[in-house]
Amino acid sequence: MGVFLRVLLVVGAVLLVIKLLKSRRKPPEPPPPAPAARPAVKSPAEIVACAHCALRLPQAEAVQAGDGRYFCGEAHRRAAEQRLD
Ligand SMILES: [Zn+2]
Repeated sequence: MGVFLRVLLVVGAVLLVIKLLKSRRKPPEPPPPAPAARPAVKSPAEIVACAHCALRLPQAEAVQAGDGRYFCGEAHRRAAEQRLD
């Protein structure tokens, strides 16, 4: 009888340890969501080249002359216009 109780206790203890180990193990974390498309990056189509020095820059930063050409800055726009005169 004593042996039976001891076996029962050991089995119970083993089951308890297994249960504790399983509960301690964290469930697998879901993969992080894919980063959303970066809105700050503009499409390559908006890159223009300076008509004076051929520097490539975003259209938003470029200076556009009256004839539609783009320049990297006001100085190059003026330089190009003076060259035409
Ligand atoms: Zn330029």
